[in-house]
Amino acid sequence: MNAKPRIVILGGNFAGLHAAFELHHTLKDKAEVMVIAPEDNFVFLPSLIWVVTGRCSPRRISFDLRTALEPRGITFVHQHAERIDAEKNQVVTNMNTFPYDYLVVATGADPDWDSVPGMGPHHKHTHYVCSVPWASNAQRGWRELLKDPGPVVVGAAQATGCYGLGYEMVLNLVYSLHKDANAKVPVTFVTSEPFLGHLGMGGVGNVKEVLEGLFKELGIEWITNMATKEITNDTIYLEDGQTIPFKYSLYLARFKGRKVILDSPGVGDERGFIPVNARYQHTTYKNIYGAGVAVAVKQPEVTDVPVGVPKTGYMSDVMGKVAAQNIEADILGKPPRELPFADIKLLCIMDGGDRAISIISDRVFPPRKQAIVRSGHMWHWAKLMFERYYMWKVKTGRIYLP
Ligand SMILES: Cc1cc2nc3c(=O)[nH]c(=O)nc-3n(C[C@H](O)[C@H](O)[C@H](O)COP(=O)(O)OP(=O)(O)OC[C@H]3O[C@@H](n4cnc5c(N)ncnc54)[C@H](O)[C@@H]3O)c2cc1C
Repeated sequence: MNAKPRIVILGGNFAGLHAAFELHHTLKDKAEVMVIAPEDNFVFLPSLIWVVTGRCSPRRISFDLRTALEPRGITFVHQHAERIDAEKNQVVTNMNTFPYDYLVVATGADPDWDSVPGMGPHHKHTHYVCSVPWASNAQRGWRELLKDPGPVVVGAAQATGCYGLGYEMVLNLVYSLHKDANAKVPVTFVTSEPFLGHLGMGGVGNVKEVLEGLFKELGIEWITNMATKEITNDTIYLEDGQTIPFKYSLYLARFKGRKVILDSPGVGDERGFIPVNARYQHTTYKNIYGAGVAVAVKQPEVTDVPVGVPKTGYMSDVMGKVAAQNIEADILGKPPRELPFADIKLLCIMDGGDRAISIISDRVFPPRKQAIVRSGHMWHWAKLMFERYYMWKVKTGRIYLP
């Protein structure tokens, strides 16, 4: 190891920035911290739901990573990692090779569109929301729909890991239909979850009852425990033979690891996720850590239709911090910190346009000691305020704040 260890972080969003700021905060000039990412903006992804309905501009929820990192002495490299050579301790990007003493992989994941034939925006059949370009594209499609409304389908396909986002999207689209077009059209929510509000976590508190009540009130039809077989330009084909015609559809696919991981032998599992222990340390390469959506987490429950594990923003931040704290512990000769994924707290607000559902729990998976579910208009405003607060906190590196 060099006199001053170099810590390379792949990814500059939730998990990557939390790792970078934590390392800088504790190690100061005892280490060189470098963030590599192909996008030079942080994007507060949770607010992309409002980009689709035209209620938020991508500018409001982005900032230049350089302005956050460089004043704190963290190097930002605007490049695309193509390969990790874990034997040689180096990252190969589209332009350079960077040796590292420690590596944090916080690259998120990609949707696996091939898991359902016809699904995904590249087929131009269903929309997607998980990046600024796709959310903007979904907004263009939504504007067209509002001019001449027709049936809407929001789907959470088998083994997806972002059911909460599915609920937010269907509720926000219905809100927009009423508010922006005064229209009432058939709206259907299709999910692989065994019941509404399972969320890939066995359900939390009374979320099921809250969602069922809301869907009934708003006239949203729902189909649970269902795999999606195929999607054409105007019809969803379900595994049990049902078909649902649509004019606008937004679908969430299961995830697969980024190409950089799939192209790096030994670094990811067979689906391209980083296998880690409770320290977020790679199970084979002890100087590699994983955080956020990029890590492999096994779904503890067996369901009729496979469900994925949600890795939310809060969980990603915590994983980024714990991974960084364990690198610090290694460098400073302190005891490591363990936090199994299942024991991370659950804090989230699922927005519904003019109201929202807040969920707080002591653990991701059951058994839980605490599960508090609240709904109402104030939670929508709380989510809006949280966006402002979070953006300020991360932009200024104050990740030690709650
Ligand atoms: C629309 C939407 C709504 C959501 N709503 C909520 C919510 O309400 N509450 C909540 O808690 N969570 C929510 N989430 C989930 C939350 O956004 C994620 O948990 C979080 O973004 C995961 O952070 P991450 O850093 O692991 O991955 P990401 O945020 O995906 O960041 C990945 C980073 O890796 C970089 N990268 C990619 N490829 C490479 C490469 N080859 N080399 C180097 N870097 C690379 C990217 O540029 C990016 O900087 C939502 C997500 C979406 C998309």
